Amino acid sequence: MYTRDNYREAKAEIEARRTSAVALAEERCRELATASPEIKRIDEELRGTGLELFRVACSGGDISAVRKRNEALIAARRAELVRLGLPEDYTEVKYACPICSDTGFVGTKMCSCLKELLITKNIKSSGMGKLIERQSFENFSLEGIEGEDRERMEKNLAKAKAYAELFPKCRGNLLLIGTTGTGKTHISTAIAKEIIHQGFDVVYDSVQNIISDFESDKFKSNYGQGESLSEKYLECELLIIDDLGTEFSTQFSTSTLYNLLNTRQNRGLATIISTNLSAKELAGKYDGRIYSRIVGSDYTVLFFSGKDYRIR
Ligand SMILES: [Zn+2]
Repeated sequence: MYTRDNYREAKAEIEARRTSAVALAEERCRELATASPEIKRIDEELRGTGLELFRVACSGGDISAVRKRNEALIAARRAELVRLGLPEDYTEVKYACPICSDTGFVGTKMCSCLKELLITKNIKSSGMGKLIERQSFENFSLEGIEGEDRERMEKNLAKAKAYAELFPKCRGNLLLIGTTGTGKTHISTAIAKEIIHQGFDVVYDSVQNIISDFESDKFKSNYGQGESLSEKYLECELLIIDDLGTEFSTQFSTSTLYNLLNTRQNRGLATIISTNLSAKELAGKYDGRIYSRIVGSDYTVLFFSGKDYRIR
């Protein structure tokens, strides 16, 4: 559900929150011990009653007297803090998330703070951070689109919403065909936004950048080193390939593309492809293996048309 890196980073961040919350409380305790001899005395006594409580409880004796003494000391400590003009809980550990005390978990369940952090990290690693800020289903406007174009766009919008809603139960693939500015990127961003918020990892990039990453991995592997740039394209739960057809066609690009689509299909992972080329142009550019894959039964094709969406 989450990439290893994002999960590791998020856990480390929560742990750092906890460490700094504890450190701040300890620092305040030390500071107070110097500033107030009264607090220092109470703290020493509290350590004593704490040990005593433990000792009496272990021997099965009556703890009520020690507990009373303990409570009185705590009350005296609070009063002293107030006298010093400080809040009663000045030296208590203040966690960023009081629900899980900055552990990230409530029992065995992931706390909402960790979930939120993972979503933020997934948005960042998706490569769609800027797009997601601006584009969603809510602000997809059909204004100014009329007639057949409008009917088609309404259907596209409904299909895209259903796609995001049914994910991952239905992990289908989409091919978005249409000229520049007809809303393909907006629709794929809106889908990605929904899916990331459900906790899945999404990766978005142009076909050219994707192929370049595979290329540099191949180059690196010849020298046997370096972290993989292309692994994420084969592993993410939803891959969005933008601008198919704009890449420079080589034997390498064709086989990379075929392997990528094929591997994802075999792994049951979803892919959304957008292209400015028509079905006919796609048939001209790609060999039968790729063409039959994306225009065949593996992909649902959505046609986009109308005036330039960005101008509207
Ligand atoms: Zn939490």
